[in-house]
Amino acid sequence: MKNMVIILCALLWVICAACGGKTSGDLPYDYNAMFQIERIYCDTEDTLLLRYLVGGNVTLLEYNKELGMFEYFCKDASCGHNTNDCIAGNVVGDLENNHGEISLLRNNTNDISNRDTQRYAYISHFNNGRFELGRDPIGSFIHAGGHLYVATVDGGYGYFPSGGGDFILLQEESHFIHKAEIGEYIYGTEYADITDDDSGSRRGYTISRLKTGDPEAEFEVIKEFPIGNLGGVFRSDGEYLYYEDEEFRLMRCNLDGGNETRMTDIRVYIQSVVYDGDYLYFSWYNRQDAFDPDNGKYYRMKRDGSSPPELLAHFDNALDTIIPMADCDYFIVGMAHTQDWLYIIDKDGSNLREIPWE
Ligand SMILES: [Zn+2]
Repeated sequence: MKNMVIILCALLWVICAACGGKTSGDLPYDYNAMFQIERIYCDTEDTLLLRYLVGGNVTLLEYNKELGMFEYFCKDASCGHNTNDCIAGNVVGDLENNHGEISLLRNNTNDISNRDTQRYAYISHFNNGRFELGRDPIGSFIHAGGHLYVATVDGGYGYFPSGGGDFILLQEESHFIHKAEIGEYIYGTEYADITDDDSGSRRGYTISRLKTGDPEAEFEVIKEFPIGNLGGVFRSDGEYLYYEDEEFRLMRCNLDGGNETRMTDIRVYIQSVVYDGDYLYFSWYNRQDAFDPDNGKYYRMKRDGSSPPELLAHFDNALDTIIPMADCDYFIVGMAHTQDWLYIIDKDGSNLREIPWE
């Protein structure tokens, strides 16, 4: 009996050592959700789930970390992945790994009211090998503080408290997007009037936050953005918020909006910014000018800002996405202006290669 216990413990130790001792629920939040505030991918222990446009259809793909290969999440080769019959058809977004529970948004092909506008979708939890459609349509969702926050189909924002209970409406009209849970708050951006020194007010974006689990919570504006950047995209490493100024230089501030600092003199494509360990990684991509000579430059810099950005590589095509994954010593990157835009690079920018398909 005692031997059995020892063997079992040894076996468990080997299994845990092989996967770094982590379970998907233990993944640091940065790999789970923080990096990708647009929420079109999520990291799990063994795979990366990614919403991807294939032949004009948005389809859920799965990257197998062990095999280093892509495949359709739905393994049925005869499936069009665009009906409710597919185990993961009609993925709209909001891919989320909430402590091991995988959820996303799907359109419901039986919902006539939804078919034309594609504005409403259904939260779908992964269960028994498929993403099961939820009961009611919603605009978007995020789990935070144990509660389920949703944008309602009529434009409101609120949450279903953990452990059940009625929906709590926090705001009747909301345009809160790009959401991420950081500490006790949900952070997001809103298209809004912002102050302007010359004209008094103009349209732009704000970073706002909402305290979780508080039925009286109100949106608190943390930072104002100029318009003309990427629709209010921001990033966070859990310690700071990162965004861009009007000349596309990288800015950051504390989570409460204080201590604003300019991090770079060079232009940074804010959507590409990720962090990994002590470093930030990012690229430059001028969406307005395909011939910008700096397109495709790939940098890293110390997160403490102690030295200027270091140019690691200059690719022929611009990186518009950098995806870090737990326990992987490379990045999946998206290349603009290429047919199959997903590639792999080593973190130092070397060894660019295509990702094989299973
Ligand atoms: Zn399918």
